Amino acid sequence: MILGGTSEARLLAGSLVKEDRWNVITSLAGRTADPAPVAGEIRTGGFGGAGGLTRYIAETGVDFLVDATHPFASRISANAVAACGNADIPGLRLERAPWRPLPGDDWNVVADIAAAAAAIPGGARAFVTVGRQEIAPFLQRADIAVIARMIERPEVDLPANAEIVLARPPFTLDSERAFLVDRKVGVLVAKNSGGKATAAKLAAARELHLPVIMVARPQKPPMRTVSTVNEALGLIAGQLP
Ligand code: NAP
Repeated sequence: MILGGTSEARLLAGSLVKEDRWNVITSLAGRTADPAPVAGEIRTGGFGGAGGLTRYIAETGVDFLVDATHPFASRISANAVAACGNADIPGLRLERAPWRPLPGDDWNVVADIAAAAAAIPGGARAFVTVGRQEIAPFLQRADIAVIARMIERPEVDLPANAEIVLARPPFTLDSERAFLVDRKVGVLVAKNSGGKATAAKLAAARELHLPVIMVARPQKPPMRTVSTVNEALGLIAGQLP
């Protein structure tokens, strides 16, 4: 079973279903109304904590669990570690590498979303790219202008100083540069998700000498970890007969 919700999870499922020896189930949280298509079987919704995930593994006869959830999805990853231990099955985390600052970057690395919202200078025009579920602390800052980009509209009332831009990655350097210039963005807020699909905003900020407030990844309990789909495929191939 693959715990999904990422492009890596989709790619892994797509590769594994082509081999007859696996029955692949991808589990989605069910947060997105219109998720990208995934090959193989799909189940949707929470399990009810680590205990529920343990029961699901036992009842479904899952032999191997791949936690390919987003680097910021810390609760499900902790549950995956606990459930693999409880059910005594091997687990593997597939987590893309974080972004690292490059020469010319001006990053203020903060521990969490609340710290990111607090770090925006008063009066700034902030381009906030942390997703729909974590937008609330930014909307409470009446002294800044918020331009928040996300895939689906959040279920919150928008104050007059905030604007929502709906868009789905990937984004190009040209479009990100134009966006930052056109919207007169003064500071970019991002989570250190890593990967290529949303990295162009960082290159554009570097070119334009814009400061970036970068939310560091949450700590996850240890599990054997790889950072690419190919590494995961190699390990899975060696794991089961
Ligand atoms: P989270 O805080 O770690 O998880 C909260 C709860 O949602 C979990 O305890 C679990 O409920 C359920 N859940 C999460 N992922 C699940 C999955 N793949 N299958 C079944 N249940 C799942 O996670 P989150 O940050 O809300 O993210 C939710 C999903 O969106 C994840 O699958 C993640 O890969 C994807 N995603 C997250 C982000 C992000 O920035 N956080 C970005 C892109 C995609 P129970 O305890 O009831 O089992």
